[in-house]
Amino acid sequence: ALAKGLLRFITCGSVDDGKSTLLGRLLYDAGMVPEDQLAALVRDSRRQHDDVGDQLDFSLLTDGLDAERQQGITIDVAYRYFHTVRRSFIVADCPGHEQYTRNMATGASNAELAVVLVDARKGLLPQTRRHTYICSLLGIRKVVLAVNKMDLVSFDQTTYQSIVDQYRELARDLGITEVHSLPVAAPTGDNVGVHSERTPWYDGATLLELLETIDAAPFRAEDFRMPVQWVNRPDQSFRGYAGTLCGGSVALGDEIVVQPGLHRAHVDRIVCAGADVEHAVAGQAVTLCLGREVDASRGDVIADARRPAPVADQFTCHLLWLGDVALLPNRTYWLKIGTRTINARVMSIKYKVDVNSQAKLAARHLDLNEVASCTIGLDENIAFETYATNRTLGGFILIDRHSNATVACGMLDFALERSSNVH
Ligand code: GDP
Repeated sequence: ALAKGLLRFITCGSVDDGKSTLLGRLLYDAGMVPEDQLAALVRDSRRQHDDVGDQLDFSLLTDGLDAERQQGITIDVAYRYFHTVRRSFIVADCPGHEQYTRNMATGASNAELAVVLVDARKGLLPQTRRHTYICSLLGIRKVVLAVNKMDLVSFDQTTYQSIVDQYRELARDLGITEVHSLPVAAPTGDNVGVHSERTPWYDGATLLELLETIDAAPFRAEDFRMPVQWVNRPDQSFRGYAGTLCGGSVALGDEIVVQPGLHRAHVDRIVCAGADVEHAVAGQAVTLCLGREVDASRGDVIADARRPAPVADQFTCHLLWLGDVALLPNRTYWLKIGTRTINARVMSIKYKVDVNSQAKLAARHLDLNEVASCTIGLDENIAFETYATNRTLGGFILIDRHSNATVACGMLDFALERSSNVH
């Protein structure tokens, strides 16, 4: 087993800050570029940059498909897997264009850490602030700030330090508890995999060392929860509830409750990857057989009977609006949470947040990429958690019922007063 296990991180920053180049260089320094790919890199670097001699263009390793490259844009989230002897990594590489906030949000919701890039010549840009804000909204508490293009500011320590100071202030305001910073130059690999001689004033870790050693246990919800994906009933003699545990663990004999209802039962069998097991933990996909017939179907949550989830139908939440058409209160959307899809109405926009200043502003509607605190009402009760407690049962998306497009992602903050907590 690797000493530090898996680290899932996201890279973010404005377009042209050097994300592709840095990630490519990181893969190269970690020894993760196979021979044939390296040969292609040398060839492509020459073809695309006649003028720069033999310098490799590491962004070519990560810039995705050829077609995209020729259009000069990178789209979608690209998940990349790599490993060193110390750790394995999954990185979500998200383009910096503002219109791709949705991809960024998707990447951030699955990450424990963000590597935020800043161009040393430009300092913090609005996009740096937005991305940091979205990371914090989606629960990321650890950031590596890579001040890139240090070669273009003569590796000047004062420039570096003033960017770091500004960023630390921003991070503190946003509840990001841990910021590691370092000066880098991506194409030449200064402080990426090897300590740079050009930053004698920096004696901290390289980017690779930081990523290998940072303590970032994946977020784990404590209480046993399993949203039911489907009911497996091949014949009269077998009925199993299939799903992926999104919190805690479950063992044979445990008493569970099927929520939002009150039916209780004991766990009779746990089947995992075709074999009977005695217990299962968060992240595992299983089929549970229960000691007696209960009425459970897709969308229900099977939970620890001693520590059930709260149940409610009205909430305050944070919404990140991703729709081309503005959010209008009182319109009905589909809300998907866990395995459940239910009608939802945004009842009111309490305030929207200026992501640059964190100021709270009055709003009647929400436009693309805006963030707001809202109240939301559902057709029926659901079992839920706050996003801070459980990302699966506290995070949701809204879908437009006509276009079928995902128009928002949301984080539940708490249930409103009038909710009936039946437990
Ligand atoms: P992205 O849009 O954030 O992925 O940025 P790219 O990786 O495509 O880099 C944008 C441009 O900046 C490219 O021309 C890179 O070669 C250049 N670049 C990236 N990092 C550095 C750096 O540290 N120093 C210098 N001089 N150029 C850099």
